[in-house]
Amino acid sequence: MTVPRQRTAGRLAAPAARPVEHNTAGRFLLRALFWGGLALAVLPWWLGTKAGSIDTQAELFQSAGRVTGLIAGYLLLVQVVLMSRLRWLERWIGARHLGLWHRELGGSVLVTILAHAALITVGYAHADRVGLTSELGTLLTEYPDMITAFIAAGMLVCIGLLSIRALRRALPYEMWYFLHLTAYVTLLLGFAHQFSNGQELFRPGLGRTVWIGFYVVMIAAVVLGRIVGPLTLNLRHRLRVADVVPESPDMVSIYITGRRLDDLDARAGQFFRWRFLARGLWWQAHPFSLSAAPNGRWLRLTVKTVGDHTQRMRAMQPGTHIFVEGPWGDFTASRRVKQRALLIAAGSGIAPIRALLEELPPGAVVIYRASAVHDLHLRHELEELAQLRHAQLWFVVGDRRDPGPRRLFTAAGMSDLVPDITDRDVYLCGPDGLVEQSLQVLRRLRVPRRQVHLDPFEL
Ligand SMILES: Cc1cc2nc3c(=O)[nH]c(=O)nc-3n(C[C@H](O)[C@H](O)[C@H](O)COP(=O)(O)OP(=O)(O)OC[C@H]3O[C@@H](n4cnc5c(N)ncnc54)[C@H](O)[C@@H]3O)c2cc1C
Repeated sequence: MTVPRQRTAGRLAAPAARPVEHNTAGRFLLRALFWGGLALAVLPWWLGTKAGSIDTQAELFQSAGRVTGLIAGYLLLVQVVLMSRLRWLERWIGARHLGLWHRELGGSVLVTILAHAALITVGYAHADRVGLTSELGTLLTEYPDMITAFIAAGMLVCIGLLSIRALRRALPYEMWYFLHLTAYVTLLLGFAHQFSNGQELFRPGLGRTVWIGFYVVMIAAVVLGRIVGPLTLNLRHRLRVADVVPESPDMVSIYITGRRLDDLDARAGQFFRWRFLARGLWWQAHPFSLSAAPNGRWLRLTVKTVGDHTQRMRAMQPGTHIFVEGPWGDFTASRRVKQRALLIAAGSGIAPIRALLEELPPGAVVIYRASAVHDLHLRHELEELAQLRHAQLWFVVGDRRDPGPRRLFTAAGMSDLVPDITDRDVYLCGPDGLVEQSLQVLRRLRVPRRQVHLDPFEL
């Protein structure tokens, strides 16, 4: 099959603004569900802890240990559901928000697990009137399923520490990812001790039923989001590479065809996780945004070579089968709250920005930042598109210390270029430095936060 290379003009002539959607209500409802679930999770402890039933220090520690254990177990299940890749959850809340919540909750999971282990050990040591090491030995040898529970806690602490940004960046991505995935193993390892030792759960009753319900929801979310959803999508669309087109020595566009692309339900600005079923590529799925709005006939990615995987993608052959997951992300025209937009891009960030330009209403302003002219990718396409969409296109080229780029990232420079900036949505995609500088300027110009949309290329 042949696909038109960099030619989308016929379809671009039609303005494609879609209605504005907000998901604030969705986020509020999810928060309510979270707190409601947490209340249900600790309910058995609350009902079992009668007023005046805690007389001794040992009982106080044990009771605190039990409630932190319930909270930790619940948070862990929520973490898995947040990352279950359920399409409707992602659409409802947004992939970025789910990721942010997952990261924020991570710290609480660590603290509650460590508190649970410490409080239970101290509480039992007090009750048995023995030292902490002796009690630890008793817990590990005489209580069922405690060894696996301690291993699970140790693994979770390691996973939590590896998620600290500096440590995470120091590791190759795939290694970090596979280590992070072992969180599923910790669930299995920790599961048994909850039901064999947990005072609130080992007897049949309300508490046990509620917790079995939590596990069922978690398993259903993972099976649907990670297995059933992707399988259905791939069987339906059977995507494969149609063409690999070099854009420059370090940038390549990949055109993709498949069946029924018109009902793929993807939008400009979204990304998929792409697993190319070719030698050296099949074992990793990498996220790439669409660099052209979906048109029912083909999809396109534009990829910058930064490492081994993106290097190998350049050599892919037409016909290569693809297994995808997605589409994800809310960096789309539907997040818009104003009629017009400002788009700021640099590096590979131009890919989703280029696609968005097709779907946003006419009259957008695009600022494309690059160190040198040869780093401006998709240039002719952008110029053609700008004309069709009545958009202003600014290429800001040069070192960041040069007068032009330096002035652009000042309040005066930016408002000279885009005088009505406070009345626009701002879509921002590029390296950390560009995003940080732009955000500072937008803050100084008092562009409301809800008008600023980021795609930081980070999951
Ligand atoms: C939502 C999103 C959309 C993206 N869209 C584009 C795009 O349209 N065009 C483009 O050129 N790049 C895009 N990227 C970046 C792209 O995914 C990485 O550059 C690519 O995966 C690097 O792979 P590598 O093995 O060649 O390089 P490496 O040197 O191995 O990785 C470079 C960096 O890329 C990230 N990365 C590597 N592997 C993965 C992975 N499997 N999943 C997530 N991140 C990973 C890590 O931060 C890593 O430090 C996007 C990233 C995200 C998160």
